[in-house]
Amino acid sequence: MPEGKNKVDMEKIVSLCKRRGFIFPSSEIYGGLGSCWDYGPLGVELKRNVKEAWWRAVIQERDDMVGIDASIMMHPQTWVASGHVEGFSDPLVECKDCHLRWRATDLNGNSCPDCSGELTEPKQFNLMFKTFMGPVEDDASVVYLRPETAQGIFVNFDNVLATSRKKLPFGIAQMGKSFRNEITTGNFIFRTREFEQMEIEYFVKPGTDEKWFDYWVKERFDWYLKLGIKEENLHLRKHGNKELAHYAKGCYDIEYLFPMGWAELEGIANRGDFDLVQHAKYSGKTLSYFDDETGEHYTPYVIEPSAGVDRSMLAFLVDAYDEELAEGETRVVLHLHPKLAPIKVVILPLSRNVKLVPLAREVYTELRRHFMTQYDDAQSIGRRYRRQDEIGTPFCVTIDFQSLEDKQVTIRERDSMAQIRLPINEMVKTLQAKLSGEPFDAQPLWATRTPDALGQ
Ligand code: ATP
Repeated sequence: MPEGKNKVDMEKIVSLCKRRGFIFPSSEIYGGLGSCWDYGPLGVELKRNVKEAWWRAVIQERDDMVGIDASIMMHPQTWVASGHVEGFSDPLVECKDCHLRWRATDLNGNSCPDCSGELTEPKQFNLMFKTFMGPVEDDASVVYLRPETAQGIFVNFDNVLATSRKKLPFGIAQMGKSFRNEITTGNFIFRTREFEQMEIEYFVKPGTDEKWFDYWVKERFDWYLKLGIKEENLHLRKHGNKELAHYAKGCYDIEYLFPMGWAELEGIANRGDFDLVQHAKYSGKTLSYFDDETGEHYTPYVIEPSAGVDRSMLAFLVDAYDEELAEGETRVVLHLHPKLAPIKVVILPLSRNVKLVPLAREVYTELRRHFMTQYDDAQSIGRRYRRQDEIGTPFCVTIDFQSLEDKQVTIRERDSMAQIRLPINEMVKTLQAKLSGEPFDAQPLWATRTPDALGQ
């Protein structure tokens, strides 16, 4: 594995996220709550776009996949069958001096990283959050907040099979919140106690599982590349035999070069028939597949690509972040893929001059029917460009005095800062094409704009 860390500083990402309304510390006015974060107006859009891109790739554009949305609280037996009650734990050690607690597997030596104090022997700590259902708080009313979305898929295997009439191979996808009482959190939204997952269970005929495992590893790796992650910042790490769960036939992690080093973005595992067999055993229900071509009944094997929404967001933000020298000053820019950018287009009237307002508002009304659009008339054009660069807006549409005469606007592209001028009635079509990846062929501005139009 290549050594190193991403050259982008995590502090800069955290600060940009706070300053521009992507991510805030949770309940900040009360001093925050450890490792809980709130997504602000831009963060929520970025997050929706990440999830939308995933849903589109794994469901909308395929005919072998369907989605579900299972409840967060499930029958407690689910977690007995899945092995979480027994084994979903981390080794916890505590410093005898300062009483800080650590995950033993995160430590290099055997003293406290904070004060060098002596540590206790590791004890297993279950990571599931427990609560009680109903008014009585006793053992019979214990329920768990799901620590992964996957089990909601397995327990619905038969329901989906019966209603969707899918044949093997087929998959079920789900995204939603998961909760883990992690011992050590940190690195911003990388490891938190409440997070979102995007998980697939892809059911296949036993014997074809290796082929489908390789297929999904490549498919998922390519998804990040298609959304703009730089290839040099992404790699695959194969789990060694010791690291593999006893039932798993193979596992790869897709790792990203985060500011703190290489770390898991998504895991893809060949889980054999473990989960369906376990749920069949504990529920007493048959969870198998009838193959009408061979006349056999068997339990499918499953390939599980399991990704984190928040971790992907962090990777997309880090990968997109850049500081460039432009026109003699440093501009901070997020080169986010247009599909992920929270705001696609901003309308910038050259000034607040009342003559410009009606046309600018008209263009704004038209564009927001098609794209997430903002209207910004505060401060100089240069400052407004920089603001949009910093939040990753791919296109700025400027309305100037000449626009009133010729019904044309100027579109500026974020990455190249190149500009084109075009008729208002071609704007939506052009932006649609450019947002879908059509190259931005800029014409020299001086050919189309007069000094008058520039307000000079
Ligand atoms: P790690 O080793 O980093 O704790 P894991 O191997 O336990 O992760 P999985 O159980 O495979 O993670 O979960 C699948 C995905 O869910 C991870 O690749 C990650 O993107 C996301 N994820 C898991 N735990 C967390 C967490 N505490 N905070 C944010 N995302 C998480």
